[in-house]
Amino acid sequence: MADFLDSIKGFGVTFRQMFNKVDTVEYPEVKRPTAPRFHGRHQLNRWPDGLEKCIGCELCAWACPADAIYVEGANNTEEERYSPGERYGRVYQINYLRCILCGLCVEACPTRALTMTNEYELADDSRESLIWTKEQLVAPLQAGMEAPPHPMRLGDTEEEYYALGAVLAARQQADSAHSSSGEGSRGGAQ
Ligand code: SF4
Ligand code: SF4
Repeated sequence: MADFLDSIKGFGVTFRQMFNKVDTVEYPEVKRPTAPRFHGRHQLNRWPDGLEKCIGCELCAWACPADAIYVEGANNTEEERYSPGERYGRVYQINYLRCILCGLCVEACPTRALTMTNEYELADDSRESLIWTKEQLVAPLQAGMEAPPHPMRLGDTEEEYYALGAVLAARQQADSAHSSSGEGSRGGAQ
């Protein structure tokens, strides 16, 4: 008798669910905005003059539990400068077949070069296309930025450069947050 009543209770749960509002989203025709801090694909950020923030230190690669990041650093020269420091990331790859989007690489990055966007549509059917290169990961040039290589435009010394760069980057971030506030929270932190 007890077994029989348990079965009735079980069907009762199913029956109640039939009257609940259906929460199915017709993806991909309908796309809901993600939470602001959603871990989507990565981005390699730039300073306000367009130089790259990545210094090729490989700390992100060492922090990655899935061994998904490959970095090769190289020296900047005065004739060919990609970042304001001594070194830059010459080769940068993230293997999205391995990446579990945990964000530990972002925590490890000392220059905030690496952040994550809200973009989650990463599926593909070939291995090659899921290994993203530096050219795919680096942030697009915004107004006032110039494609590297070029000299440091924000100051003659590293102290001047980083002081002004931080102020301008904060202003750019505030502007972009303000302009995107009407569309919901999209895009990654810088
Ligand atoms: S998000 Fe996690 S798994 Fe993906 S590259 Fe970064 S550290 Fe590795
Ligand atoms: S993304 Fe950050 S941690 Fe990774 S190599 Fe560049 S500077 Fe270093």
